[in-house]
Amino acid sequence: MTDTAAKTYQQYIAGKWSDAEGARTFEDFDPFTGKVVARIPSASKADTQRAITAASEAFPAWAAMPPIAKQKLFLRAADVVERRIPDLVSILARETGCGRAFAMFQIQWSISLLRQVADWGYRPVGEVFRSDGPGKFAMAVRKPLGVVAGITPWNGAHNLAWRTALLPMAFGNTMVLKPSEEAPIAAGLILAEILHEAEFPAGVFNVITHGPGEAGPVADAMFESPAVRSINFTGSSATGRMLAERAGKTLKRIVLELGGYNPLIVLKDADIAQAVNTTAFGAFFHQGQICMNTRKVFVERAIADDYTQRLVEKTKGLKIGDPNIPTTVIGPLINDRALQMVKERVEEAVSKGARILTGGTHEGRVYHPTILADVPASSIVNTEETFGPVLIIEAVDSAEEALTKATATRYGLCAAILTGDQEKGMALAERFDAGMVHVNGPTMAGEPALPNGGVKDSGWGRSGYNAVEDFTEVRLTTLTRGAMTFPF
Ligand code: ADP
Repeated sequence: MTDTAAKTYQQYIAGKWSDAEGARTFEDFDPFTGKVVARIPSASKADTQRAITAASEAFPAWAAMPPIAKQKLFLRAADVVERRIPDLVSILARETGCGRAFAMFQIQWSISLLRQVADWGYRPVGEVFRSDGPGKFAMAVRKPLGVVAGITPWNGAHNLAWRTALLPMAFGNTMVLKPSEEAPIAAGLILAEILHEAEFPAGVFNVITHGPGEAGPVADAMFESPAVRSINFTGSSATGRMLAERAGKTLKRIVLELGGYNPLIVLKDADIAQAVNTTAFGAFFHQGQICMNTRKVFVERAIADDYTQRLVEKTKGLKIGDPNIPTTVIGPLINDRALQMVKERVEEAVSKGARILTGGTHEGRVYHPTILADVPASSIVNTEETFGPVLIIEAVDSAEEALTKATATRYGLCAAILTGDQEKGMALAERFDAGMVHVNGPTMAGEPALPNGGVKDSGWGRSGYNAVEDFTEVRLTTLTRGAMTFPF
């Protein structure tokens, strides 16, 4: 269904709004209503090259800009985001089916990151070393890399796009950002509007957009350009692996924040009411489309029946439907492909013997929050990240069994343990092979200043915490005072 009022957007290159080559566009859909939200430019390789050139030309002045001037810009951008909260909540709902709570989380997170990076320009930039050379002075100074290409996802569309752009920019790099085709506004073009209004210099931040299935030429331009020094990627493990291979071939740096299969362990001494709330939030926030959502619970048998019954009751009461209504908890999945995947995986598990405790049906693209028990080990949903509101419950006989099962995954993003015994929780946490483990909290816990990231198939890099390593190079400079002696 086409909404004739849908706005046509342009790309943001060198501080100006422009059409894609040949004025090609695609339609950006509302996953709840199916209506067209906007028409978005479909970039070609040449468009991407233009954006890279703009970023490259803007780089020397941006790298040299004094911290006080950069600080002013980041703080001004934070104020613009704050002023535009209602627009942002609305576009996140219309473009990505995001409910109010997650939209507000993303926006506040972004404002907080903008204000935090505002003083990164004042961080010390290097170290002085002792040299064995007499009279020799040696210093290592961190320099920005140059142009960083950002590739962002649609799920945490807004905050993950800011994270992708701000960490490199704060250290003096310039950006070419390619948002997901599912969220070109919330994950890209709206950031350009905000940074434009905050008066960032032309070319420091550029956005190019492309339609479904058309990432290829954009990515080709990014990998082929010698000006692009690093790729900052957040997305699926499959795409991340493919991009890492390309980065290997072209010897570009790459930061990867990928998927997860996140377990929650509920020990028998946990507060059951709290465990139920923590589980429901961890599993179903943003209808299970966050890489940190809880996918599987291992609950000690002594409390398994009581916990499961209360969790099923709570889940049945979650309000589903229109994400524009503030009380809605479960909105639509991002597109028909996502819905189909969730349906097929649940059906496959059921065909192999799994039991549906609640859910397993859908209205339009809204999939009901679903809890599965007795899921056979061979079913796909038991091992693969399934981006949807589907939770598996398994009863175990001990904490040890829970840990063994919870760590038997090729992913290693996050995990959580709920227990009345903090010491026991911390001891179990120590033994997890994951980037983030939370004791007495949900698997999902994101703050911009904390090191976020995974191990194994969940990627590498720790956003925020590691940004200086990820987005600067060390240059050693030495000065020899007096005459050196040589062997010949
Ligand atoms: P999903 O399937 O959930 O959208 P992806 O990992 O495919 O997850 O998407 C994350 C980002 O990766 C999006 O911006 C998407 O456009 C991008 N992407 C997908 N395929 C490619 C590709 N071949 N080259 C570069 N980027 C890609």
